[in-house]
Amino acid sequence: MTEAFLRIFGAGPEGVWAAPGRVNLIGEHTDYNDGFALPIAIPQHTLVAARRRQDGRLRLHSAQGDGPVIDLRVDRLTAGAVTTWGAYPAGVVWALREAGHPVGGADLHVDSTVPAGAGLSSSAALECAVAFAYNDLYGLDLSASALALIGQRAENGFAGVPCGAMDQLASACCTAGAALHLDIRAGAHQQIPFAPQAQGMSLLVVDTRVKHDLGDGAYAALRAGCEQAARLLGLAALRDLTPADLSRAGTALPAHLVPLVRHVVTENARVTDAVSHLRAGHLAALGPILTDGHASLRDDFRISCTESDLAVDTALAHGALGARMTGGGFGGSVIVLAQEGRVEAIGAAVTAAFRAAGYQAPHLFPVSPAAGARRIA
Ligand code: ADP
Ligand code: MG
Repeated sequence: MTEAFLRIFGAGPEGVWAAPGRVNLIGEHTDYNDGFALPIAIPQHTLVAARRRQDGRLRLHSAQGDGPVIDLRVDRLTAGAVTTWGAYPAGVVWALREAGHPVGGADLHVDSTVPAGAGLSSSAALECAVAFAYNDLYGLDLSASALALIGQRAENGFAGVPCGAMDQLASACCTAGAALHLDIRAGAHQQIPFAPQAQGMSLLVVDTRVKHDLGDGAYAALRAGCEQAARLLGLAALRDLTPADLSRAGTALPAHLVPLVRHVVTENARVTDAVSHLRAGHLAALGPILTDGHASLRDDFRISCTESDLAVDTALAHGALGARMTGGGFGGSVIVLAQEGRVEAIGAAVTAAFRAAGYQAPHLFPVSPAAGARRIA
């Protein structure tokens, strides 16, 4: 990172920061409903080498963005003005300034092992790496969760993506060997020990390598549907409904909103169940919860796709304990929980099924819970 930075900007960086991607074990589309989620950080991460500038310029370079250095002025950052990948790091600087932190310019070089657009939160990894770099360089002394919310603000307000806070909180606050139990409304999180390998299990990521365009507008529409349902029910958010309230809610809502509500309510309950099982050391009990979560996203929220369904069904048919799509939907990645001894056969079966269906070959890799964002040099 230091050599690349030197080559691009002509002087060395002041430091290097890292922030991971994530997979969400359970709790999908619950964050913007004030609910619960249970992500882990993955070993794949984004690095940012950074050096402050005194002249108010923000210069951005990425090993993954094949364009030249993006050259901006921090006092002229306005929402929507940057339409390339630079919107994510520039958005972080914008969000810090909006929040009243008088930060100036910097040179930033980015490099990442998180595949972009695979549902593994490369955008949050990028935002968090930049936020942590600025926090240290400009002596802001913000907490990890405050920096995560700056990243979310950047994505919502500057890049124009109406995401909840789960991705950024996962990248900023996760710790190695644990899943992060998020309670979005309370603004609280707890580390839940999660070590599949210690119990002879493995968590496999299947990156389907498809991203259906439908996803962009659909996310905002689903979020709006959830918010409308909460308003019609007189609630602050769908978080306030329990599974016992569902039949009453069903009669009070237009038919098209009912499955959305059912997903969010049952999904919050699945997070709570999953946390109980993990606390009791019953890791295998997570399997059926994952599979139920997938069915809910497929049938009620309707954001799966044939590739993700094929990966889940094939994994289950070959002995997986559970499997589900993870992330915002319409492609991206599937996670599979399996006994270690089954993983190879499951991977081979998924790859063969994709080949037989004429889909491009998926990328398969095991993950274990990794550390959250931090300074590394
Ligand atoms: P995900 O977060 O699931 O990977 P998103 O669509 O939310 O998918 O974010 C992907 C976008 O984030 C990319 O299209 C790019 O604009 C930006 N991005 C992520 N990582 C990098 C990187 N290392 N370099 C440049 N841009 C990046
Ligand atoms: Mg993203």
